[in-house]
Amino acid sequence: MIVVLLGPPGAGKGTQGERIAAALGVPKIATGDVLRAAVKAGTKLGLEAKGFMDRGALVPDAVILGIMKEALAEPAQAKGVILDGVVRTVPQAEGLAAMTRDLGRSVDVVLAFDIADDELVARLSGRTTCDKNQKPFKGLEPGQPCPDGCGGTLVRRADDEPDAVRNRLRVYREQTAPVLDWYTRQGTRVAHIDAVGSVDEVTTRALEAVGT
Ligand code: AMP
Repeated sequence: MIVVLLGPPGAGKGTQGERIAAALGVPKIATGDVLRAAVKAGTKLGLEAKGFMDRGALVPDAVILGIMKEALAEPAQAKGVILDGVVRTVPQAEGLAAMTRDLGRSVDVVLAFDIADDELVARLSGRTTCDKNQKPFKGLEPGQPCPDGCGGTLVRRADDEPDAVRNRLRVYREQTAPVLDWYTRQGTRVAHIDAVGSVDEVTTRALEAVGT
């Protein structure tokens, strides 16, 4: 089963994606995580992506399509995959459709996380993220060790600063929201879920929408 998670930054796609992936027994791919790891490692991909990411802009489609292609070729994805933040523009959705078609597969469902902008700004400006396992945490300060004990340190993502957040929300409305209409026009099932509530409540809604 291929599930695409769509929603603005801070809607909880990463957290819910982990849980949906565990419930379905399939891996999750997040292009944001792949890119942050590349930036940290100082690879060519990381150097190319960093400027876009820091100001909350999208990394060029060709770069993302390259990451998608490599990820989808992994044998671990044969049973299915959860794509978190992987499809953010219509050309990316078209590219993914072509890749899955070549593999004799298709996107089964798009989960759209619905949430108001005010709630997002509050969530993002109050979060820190582990620089190792990439998990977000609420109410903890940068510099503290990761509470998961993974050895990482909590950092404030440059793109969680207010100006970058505003830019990410604008980019979402202008470039990513149209992807929902694109999938609807293709006849792909798009399920809207209310992303406000406890983590457990949202997981229950997401799993119902996926049909498990
Ligand atoms: P995320 O962790 O999903 O919020 O992604 C962090 C940043 O990585 C985004 O603000 C973009 O700069 C970049 N990024 C991640 N996924 C994509 C994508 N599918 N298309 C373009 N840029 C992306």
